[in-house]
Amino acid sequence: MIFIFGFGHQTESDSGIREELYCPSCRRNAIIKIIIIKKWITFFFLPVFSYSKKRFRVCESCGYSAEMQKE
Ligand SMILES: [Zn+2]
Repeated sequence: MIFIFGFGHQTESDSGIREELYCPSCRRNAIIKIIIIKKWITFFFLPVFSYSKKRFRVCESCGYSAEMQKE
């Protein structure tokens, strides 16, 4: 019996939140969306357990992204 585990599988989901914030890349206010990136342990290539969850702010105009600090 062979078990195949994997690490680092990453999924990205849109939180649906939009904010108007200053974008350091555009150098002006822009619509910033918040995305959630989760890392998964996979078992036979299926994600079973997420061990890392990070939120990023992404500028919708230029694609600039920055990790959000934990609140
Ligand atoms: Zn921008």
